[in-house]
Formats: sequence, C-alpha cells, structure tokens
Amino acid sequence: MKNMILFGPPGSGKGTQAVKLAEHYNLLHLSTGDMFRYEIKNNTPLGQRAKSYMDKGELVPDEITIEMLKERVERAKDVNGIIFDGFPRTVAQAEALDQMLEEISGPIKALLLLDVPDEEIVKRILLRGETSGRKDDLDEEIIRNRIEVFNRETTPVYDYYDQKNIAFKVDGVGSVDEIFRRICRTLDQL
Ligand code: AMP
Repeated sequence: MKNMILFGPPGSGKGTQAVKLAEHYNLLHLSTGDMFRYEIKNNTPLGQRAKSYMDKGELVPDEITIEMLKERVERAKDVNGIIFDGFPRTVAQAEALDQMLEEISGPIKALLLLDVPDEEIVKRILLRGETSGRKDDLDEEIIRNRIEVFNRETTPVYDYYDQKNIAFKVDGVGSVDEIFRRICRTLDQL
C-alpha cells in the first residue's frame, strides 16, 4: 500500500486507526486536524487564522488547508507512502491532492470510509471531549454542526474516488482491533 486516505465523519476513529495503519504498512501519517492544533498551540499566524473556524466546527478554507498540506507532502518525498487522515474534506481538496501527488509521488491507491451512525458519533465525541481538551469536542451543537458539514461538504469526496473505483466502506463500529483487522483485510485484497 502506498498513498491512501482514511475517510469518515468526525469521531469515526480515523486518528486511532491511522496511527495503527501507519505502523503496520510503514506509512507517514498526515492529519490536517493535528497540524492545525499544533499551529494553534504555538500561536502561529496560520493557527490564528484556523482557530475561529475550528472552534465553530466549520472547515478551514481550502486555500489555507491545501497550502499547509502541500508544504508537508513536498517535505515527504522519500517516504514509503502517506496515509491521509482528515484530508481531503472537499472535492477541491481532492483535486488539489491528486495534482500534487502526480507531481511528487504516486497516486492515491484507496480511500477507506469508516462507516459509523451519527448518534454513535455524537456519543463518542462527547466521551472523547472529557479528556481530549478539544473545544470542538465539548459542545453538542458544535459536534452536530461538524457532522452536518461532513454530510454536506465532505461526502462528495467519497463519490469523487468512487468514480475512480478506489473507494471502499468498512464497518466502523466494534473494537479498535476488530476495525483494524477489517481495514487490513480490505487493503490486503487490493
Ligand atoms: P479533525 O481533527 O480532523 O476532526 O479536524 C478538526 C477541525 O480542523 C475540523 O473541524 C476543521 O475545522 C479543521 N480541519 C481539519 N482538516 C481539515 C480539512 N482538510 N479542511 C478544512 N478544515 C479542516
């Protein structure tokens, strides 16, 4: 497996699974959410721009997100492959990603959707909020907005890769290890 996208709504377990997959397949794990949180923690101009969107559960504008990600991908020329977590979240981001990978490394081989029902997601994120320290994990209204944004702006990304026949769905309910095995089974069949 070279470059792949771990896809799914907030709270679907992308972060947890991406860490395990990166280790298992020797991939670089890139999470745009983590990158933004790092910038905010260090109070950089980029972090300051991203913060107001993140606090409301809105998407950070494409041009900011794409530029940040591109810079990181360009620095990763020598890696075995990349697992993208939380990116792309719009079709414009998907198009930009395909273009940058064409220039820099190989194409996306697979997009994997972690399928989790909305109500389960709200429960999981509220629970995560007790320890994550994330403002966007604490308020149910913001969580529901993030799910709405996912359904409205991000689900078309699934169709974009489905048209290329490289989009796959995996049941995202179960134990971490069960879900990990399901993902590996799907990837190993490619
Ligand atoms: P995450 O950690 O992936 O749940 O992302 C947390 C927040 O960061 C999101 O709700 C967005 O505000 C922002 N964010 C992360 N990735 C992206 C992206 N690819 N495009 C736009 N905003 C993003």
